[in-house]
Amino acid sequence: MGCMQVKNVNVMFPGRRPGERVHALDGIDLTIGDGEFVVALGASGCGKTTLLSLMAGFIAPSSGEMLLNGRPVEGPGADRGVVFQKHALLPWLNVLDNATFGLKLQRVPKAQREEIAKRNLALVGLQDFHRHMIYQLSGGMQQRVGIARALTCDPAMLLMDEPMAALDALTRETIQELLLDVWQRTQKMLFFITHSVEEALFLASRLIVMSPRPGRITHSYDLDFNRRFLATRDARAIKSSPDFIEMRERVLGIIYGDERAAHHAAEELHHG
Ligand code: ADP
Ligand code: MG
Repeated sequence: MGCMQVKNVNVMFPGRRPGERVHALDGIDLTIGDGEFVVALGASGCGKTTLLSLMAGFIAPSSGEMLLNGRPVEGPGADRGVVFQKHALLPWLNVLDNATFGLKLQRVPKAQREEIAKRNLALVGLQDFHRHMIYQLSGGMQQRVGIARALTCDPAMLLMDEPMAALDALTRETIQELLLDVWQRTQKMLFFITHSVEEALFLASRLIVMSPRPGRITHSYDLDFNRRFLATRDARAIKSSPDFIEMRERVLGIIYGDERAAHHAAEELHHG
């Protein structure tokens, strides 16, 4: 059983001028349990990447606690797989070698690491592309390799920082669906950052909305649009359903600082 706990965490960064400090995160409390897909949404600069970096162990909190399965997060580890917006693949290696690289570093025997990598590449639909070079792949396929690679060490958790942001709309929808399949099959904890309200609503089992200066979690919603997709496979029907649209408008309202108007609009939709 896995669990990522963020307990009353603050992060201060040094500012531009001497003595100045940036309060990047303020009093963050968040628990991500087994099989939970948590999506963070918020304006640029509200601390989303900082929160992910804490979970990844890239940085330490200024105060508060980060616990993974009850133990303090003390640095990066194989129990967390990270996927960035810009893929961090090795361009001189082919797809299979990229997917086995982490295991090679851990001195896992060749036959075993290829078996693991092939299984993860199949999970993201790349079973026929083992020998392709990274530069021969489209952006969407490169991100799939990134997901397969993040799964290599069978981490308890996947951390994804705007992994779809550079993709065209169509590819993006395909990868959203693929990611829900990966989530369902692997039951991993997911923490996912996006700028897209629609993407956030579609993917999240819990959506957190953050506000900047200082970065705080202002809203949290339990959602089931992702499970509805997995049950029906009809993304368009879900994204155009009245309750999806109502949530979308409400969250857009929050993000644009117009929460009251959004609430009224939702009420009207509800009663009208
Ligand atoms: P987001 O990912 O939501 O856009 P970030 O977590 O990247 O936001 O940044 C939150 C705030 O912290 C911003 O004001 C940013 O400029 C600042 N910040 C982030 N990383 C550093 C750093 N290493 N040093 C100084 N300031 C930083
Ligand atoms: Mg960011």
